[in-house]
Amino acid sequence: MVNIVLFGPPGAGKGTLAEIIKRYSKIVHISTGDLFRENVKSSTPIGKEAKKYMDEGKLVPDSVVIGMVKERLARDDVKKDGFMLDGFPRTLDQAKALDGVTRLDTVAVLDIDKKSLRERILGRYNCPKCNRIYNIFNDRLKPKMEGQCDECKVALTHRADDNEETFEKRWKAYEEQSTDALEYYEERAGLVKHVDSNKILALTEKDVKGMFGL
Ligand code: AMP
Repeated sequence: MVNIVLFGPPGAGKGTLAEIIKRYSKIVHISTGDLFRENVKSSTPIGKEAKKYMDEGKLVPDSVVIGMVKERLARDDVKKDGFMLDGFPRTLDQAKALDGVTRLDTVAVLDIDKKSLRERILGRYNCPKCNRIYNIFNDRLKPKMEGQCDECKVALTHRADDNEETFEKRWKAYEEQSTDALEYYEERAGLVKHVDSNKILALTEKDVKGMFGL
């Protein structure tokens, strides 16, 4: 069983890397952004609280996020197959809280510059049914039919917070709050592995299995 944290700024490709890992393992993919979006959609108390922050590109308070993640990590699928956390932790307190409940095998840090990130975020589209990620500015990630999922044939959606203004705020939140969490992990020998975000799509089965010990 392998426990992974996928770490990097918004748009760095954490979800894409998670999809690639899923090809070779049964590790459970947990995206806190997706969990929040589901909660917002069904208007749960967590969703109502989180929406205020998400719309502004701000981080949801630690108490809300940590509770939600702990609850998800306690489920049987995670205990059996391990997890890859995508979008969590994003603050030092979240990283410490995670250490309190589980062991980590690898923190994969996706390295990318701000300019490439902006393009990715503004071109990013999602399938609402299977969650597959597309990008209209990237030939390898473009849908075959404009605006439609290759697999499910349903209309693709664009996240409300994937716009220029919110991007700047989310980038700032990353720089101000998430770098502390990264430094905390960097202090532990052998835990952090850097991945060039522009090379994720070229990763082979051998690369992925080697990197994560699958
Ligand atoms: P993401 O899809 O990971 O970019 O997350 C979308 C939004 O959900 C973020 O801009 C935050 O408002 C919120 N969010 C997701 N994960 C976290 C987290 N670990 N801590 C605080 N807020 C989060």
